[in-house]
Amino acid sequence: MKHVTILGATGSIGLRTLELVSSFPDEFAVAGLAARGSNVDVLAELCRKHAPRAVALLDRDARDRLARLLPAPRPELLAGADGLVALAREVDADVVVSALVGGAGLLPTMAAIEAGRTMALANKETLVMAGSLMTAAARRCGVPLLPVDSEHSAVFQCLVGHNRGDVHRVLLTASGGPFREWPAEIFDGITVEDALKHPTWKMGAKITIDSATLMNKGLEIIEARWLFDLAPDQVQVIVHPQSIVHSMVEYVDGSVIAQLGVADMGIPILYALTYPERRPTPAVRLDLTRTGPLSFFAPDPVKFPCLRLARAALEHGGVAPVVLNAANEVTVAAFLDHRLRFVDIAELIERALDDVPPGPLASIDQCVAVDADTRRRVQGWVDARAGGSAK
Ligand code: NAD
Ligand code: MG
Repeated sequence: MKHVTILGATGSIGLRTLELVSSFPDEFAVAGLAARGSNVDVLAELCRKHAPRAVALLDRDARDRLARLLPAPRPELLAGADGLVALAREVDADVVVSALVGGAGLLPTMAAIEAGRTMALANKETLVMAGSLMTAAARRCGVPLLPVDSEHSAVFQCLVGHNRGDVHRVLLTASGGPFREWPAEIFDGITVEDALKHPTWKMGAKITIDSATLMNKGLEIIEARWLFDLAPDQVQVIVHPQSIVHSMVEYVDGSVIAQLGVADMGIPILYALTYPERRPTPAVRLDLTRTGPLSFFAPDPVKFPCLRLARAALEHGGVAPVVLNAANEVTVAAFLDHRLRFVDIAELIERALDDVPPGPLASIDQCVAVDADTRRRVQGWVDARAGGSAK
């Protein structure tokens, strides 16, 4: 029996993970659950169904409301950012699914790694922020970082059985998002509703906007660099609107190995939970006679400047990816709040990256400080642009 802790249990990845846990009752049990706490009724239901040993909620009031909904014996209930870290560190688990969204995942994910727990990593923003420190900690603690992100799971699968030294490059596929075919001239008028219509995947709001700006692919370049120890120019992006080929690895002899499947996050999540084994799933099977043609394009650098910004941050190194991520989180939240235009997202991220000092990222404390400072600065620009008031 594998005991699974899920950080971000009420999200798109978290709920899908819990569905899989329920589908294999002889194989998995829930150890701990963590979430923000915005939906206490859902959490109470998850606790009744999965009987976790502990639950951590960012929101302290939500913890108290959850306590009232769950009669004793109830799980240990923790609260606040410290509560999430304590859950990740102290609740015994064979695997921790890191599926919080954004930089909020950084400290709990690091705590789980330092406690020596196997990580199934969906929360790419944490690797973007602290890839060097996180991968070093994982090596030091002997912790595998198993990718959940579909492209990275694909690359991971294409690497099995090969020499890492023989990799020429990795080709990350991108659906291209909802605006792939929209002319650049009308990007000014993109609405939140337009941007939330992802053509192939159903995901949380933040990553859906990141997929529309292609920042998601930019973050994934950085994620791949750290997960697979690649040079930045060994990670390339190719637009593939059907989302059937989840990514590819090209070897030095010219062979290209791809991983294919239907667009269902259940497949990479389950592989991370059962690695190195596989399990039969009820997922829809891929039928290549019905998918229609598979097409591939180069991404448009003019319509999607976020790709260039992410690559620039990776090449600059040090704290630049922390700044990139924080500026992206603030501007995406403001766009979702109708306080910023779609095209302003890239513009403000570029402004935030303008004056990043050189030098390596020294510590998680520095990461947290730069993150907070960038959020403050970018929030100031957003407020100035939106006239200082929320709509
Ligand atoms: P989501 O918004 O659906 O869920 C986020 C979860 O994190 C929720 O449980 C929420 O309660 C919790 N949370 C949010 N902010 C928090 C905070 N400040 N403190 C504590 N908890 C907080 O997001 P998602 O789509 O499930 O994505 C989760 C992560 O997985 C992201 O990093 C995303 O990039 C990555 N990912 C998602 C998908 C997908 O298909 N959804 C695919 C690949 C990678
Ligand atoms: Mg992905």
